[in-house]
Amino acid sequence: MKIFVVNCGSSSLKYQLINMKNEEVEAKGLVERIGIPGSVLKHQPANGEKVVIEEYMPTHKEALKHVIDALMDENYGVIKNMNEINAVGHRVVHAGEKFAFSVVINEEVVNALKGCIDLAPLHNPPNIIGIEACQQLMPGVPMVGVFDTAFHQTMPKEAFIYALPYELYEKYGVRRYGFHGTSHKYVAQRAASMLNKNIEDLKIVTCHLGNGASVAAVKQGKSVDTSMGFTPLEGLAMGTRCGDIDPAIVKFVMEKENLDLAGIDNLMNKKSGVLGISGVSSDFRDIEEAAEKGNMRADLALKVFAYKVRKYIGAYAAAMGGIDAIVFTAGLGENSASMRASVCEGLEFLGVEIDNEKNNVRGKEAEVSKANSKVKVLLIPTNEELMIARDTKSLIAE
Ligand code: ADP
Repeated sequence: MKIFVVNCGSSSLKYQLINMKNEEVEAKGLVERIGIPGSVLKHQPANGEKVVIEEYMPTHKEALKHVIDALMDENYGVIKNMNEINAVGHRVVHAGEKFAFSVVINEEVVNALKGCIDLAPLHNPPNIIGIEACQQLMPGVPMVGVFDTAFHQTMPKEAFIYALPYELYEKYGVRRYGFHGTSHKYVAQRAASMLNKNIEDLKIVTCHLGNGASVAAVKQGKSVDTSMGFTPLEGLAMGTRCGDIDPAIVKFVMEKENLDLAGIDNLMNKKSGVLGISGVSSDFRDIEEAAEKGNMRADLALKVFAYKVRKYIGAYAAAMGGIDAIVFTAGLGENSASMRASVCEGLEFLGVEIDNEKNNVRGKEAEVSKANSKVKVLLIPTNEELMIARDTKSLIAE
């Protein structure tokens, strides 16, 4: 069985074709600048050279058509015809409270996702366009929606209700949803198998530390809390997002800096986080380099970032009544030994003891805590595409 995994952004389309017999990626790629001059498809077959196709693609439908053609191309393709694609798995950001699990997509599901556009105005519209383009180009092929919010639907009410007038939740769905769910779920499941334990017996804190960053408390395999909230702005400091701040700052800064709503929104989403503190970059590689050269603000940005992750780990130990494992994943979590060490510093009282030698690793599954550390610290590269493919396979097989 071959599953086509699709992730549509506003002007991009990422894809993988995964053979579920061995869970191997047969081809993957990315279309950029959809609807913008300079559209380009970069297609990478597993056993061959990367192919770059530059041709204007006005909408996601043309982009998808090029991707399908590339997959079937006689020189660099990996399938002979479209019938070899058994199903499509779509990444969708926001399903509100409608779906706690992945679902087979039908008209009702598409309408429900349209109903969530208000909650994710930047993300859901391109996700829906991607679904509709696939339906047109691949009629009859079953499609499954896998939602970033779904894994966190198990959060108890006390974890997801804001201390705002309750009517705002009832009228508009103002509550905490959480994101990166597919990644948190994948790494929590991998952690259980790496530790040779049943996930039902574990309390895990998963740290997805990339450009966007969030932490989740996973108890008995279920998300019971996570740091992102109504939007992906809440929680940790991120590349350019501010994370938790005193809400009164919004009005104060708007008045002082003469900003309108779009201006303050832009400041909190695009100019804050480690970029805002360091003034150097949103990329942790640049910040680490600047800090090594003695840039104090870069050093401070790294410390603020690590401190917030550490505080969430402490909070989630309290929320779950203990921790058995901490997992690091995503760009920074998978690559930065110094950030992992910095986050864990001072957590010895919880039984967290990192092994500096074992921690000197990147991009592959590894246990990086000391052999006798009560809490295991794990590095697990995330694989959201594989998770989407697995969910798709299990749903269409039913
Ligand atoms: P997203 O998917 O949210 O864009 P990623 O998970 O790809 O993010 O992570 C991107 C971030 O990972 C970059 O901002 C970069 O700072 C960080 N990163 C990647 N490689 C390294 C590295 N070798 N050392 C430190 N940070 C890294």
